[in-house]
Amino acid sequence: MNFCVLCFRVCRSDFCAVCDEALREAELVGERRFCKLPSTNGIVLSSYAYRGIGRDCVLACKSQGFRRIGPALVRRSLRCPLLQEALGRSDVIMPAPSSLWSRWRGSLDLASMLAEGLARHAGLLVCPPPRALSFRWRKQALRTHSQRRGVFRSRQKLYDASYFEPYRPTPLRSARLKVLIVDDVVTTGHTLSELAACFPQVEVEFYTLASAFRPGKDPAC
Ligand SMILES: [Zn+2]
Repeated sequence: MNFCVLCFRVCRSDFCAVCDEALREAELVGERRFCKLPSTNGIVLSSYAYRGIGRDCVLACKSQGFRRIGPALVRRSLRCPLLQEALGRSDVIMPAPSSLWSRWRGSLDLASMLAEGLARHAGLLVCPPPRALSFRWRKQALRTHSQRRGVFRSRQKLYDASYFEPYRPTPLRSARLKVLIVDDVVTTGHTLSELAACFPQVEVEFYTLASAFRPGKDPAC
């Protein structure tokens, strides 16, 4: 017997029919599934809108202790053919770094959970992001949007493809190493584009569970 991870009704899979339908309505469709990152050519694929039930799910999992929701959302997101295609093209998966500040507050690292779930499904390994970045982003988060822009990039350390060496499959799936960078929510896209900029020699793709993308705006929360 199974219980719905959201409402605890008895059901046969992760979500009962009612919650599954609500999540289906929160799914992004068509062009809304994509957002273009600032100052790069990167396109982020997202599954859900970060509002209503999409936002409730992420917050309940990350900060309210409903940890079963994370893996359930990851499994549900795998229904998306575009995500399946992205996984098929990728050699390594890397989660965006969670800040030490949020871990100290007890937030669950949903980005990491997402990376593990997708990697297990696709038979890939998860490469952790450079450790130094979680220190840096904590300070970044204290700055205003205009201060944040460019500050990180001017000081950032660059890594070559050997960073991924212990995690990449042999042979590679494509001519050049391709990394799927994942995060739980995309808000401004700065974290993702700055992370990708640390690895100028590798091809990257982006996937997030939910999108609150508003170009040029500060994160809503
Ligand atoms: Zn339910």
